Amino acid sequence: MFSLKSKTARWCTVVCLVGGLITSSSAVASQVKKPVVQGSSEHQELTSTYHRTDEVLKKLETKPPRFIVSETQYKDQPTPDVADPPSEDPAKAPSKTVYLTFDDGPHKVSGQILSLLDEFDAKATFFMLDGNIRNFPDAVKKMAEAGHSLGAHGVTHDKTKIYQSPQTVVAEMDQTLNTIKEITGIDSTLIRTPYGSAPYMKDPYKKAVSDKGYQLWDWNVDSKDWYYRDKRLVDNTIAQVAEKAKKDEPLVILLHEREETLAQLPELLEYLKKQNYDFKALDTEMIPIQLK
Ligand SMILES: [Zn+2]
Repeated sequence: MFSLKSKTARWCTVVCLVGGLITSSSAVASQVKKPVVQGSSEHQELTSTYHRTDEVLKKLETKPPRFIVSETQYKDQPTPDVADPPSEDPAKAPSKTVYLTFDDGPHKVSGQILSLLDEFDAKATFFMLDGNIRNFPDAVKKMAEAGHSLGAHGVTHDKTKIYQSPQTVVAEMDQTLNTIKEITGIDSTLIRTPYGSAPYMKDPYKKAVSDKGYQLWDWNVDSKDWYYRDKRLVDNTIAQVAEKAKKDEPLVILLHEREETLAQLPELLEYLKKQNYDFKALDTEMIPIQLK
């Protein structure tokens, strides 16, 4: 009888352990499963890598502690043969790209903007005015050293002057790009005309800058930071990002080098980072977004 009891006790222990493992495994699985991103190609890719222990281990090195705990527990269990494995954790989803662009600088807050971008490991693009480049040459050098993209925004920022003819636009952009080259050595061909390409950049204007080999960039997310000047610029930008992210085109956000924008920038960067966006700089190989 004693022996039978002992066997029963051992059997119970085994059952309870297995039960515990299953419970623990399901708990982790359901934890990893949230929140859900439906039907994306990201889902497919993550599903296929789910069983690759070496990849999971590699990811563990870069995950915050919350995930280290759950993934370690999960890894220690026998790999379950599940039809619908957990896969939609946004922290594991492949990253998306956003292009932050800052107009009208450089500015006295350029240094702080650059420090903040550095904190977020973010690259951005600066469309600058010739006079401001002359006023803050050190800021422009720092932008270049940090790997941000530099572009021209013109000289006068006065629509009655710059848009007089295709040649006046080209002249302002030439002058600004030459100043960028003189200060940084960078031979950029990125331009953004004041107030955007519409309605001023008619076809002959566009042809003139294109003939010079310049890429004329607008944006598809307008923070309206010059208008809101407070947290509303973050809310406004987030709403547009959520909408535009569904479309298959690069996400280009218009911002300005201003104190009010700097004040809201940490919150915006935090949001985009949590959404798994990488912050990259525009380059001359990309096809520019233009207003219609
Ligand atoms: Zn401007």
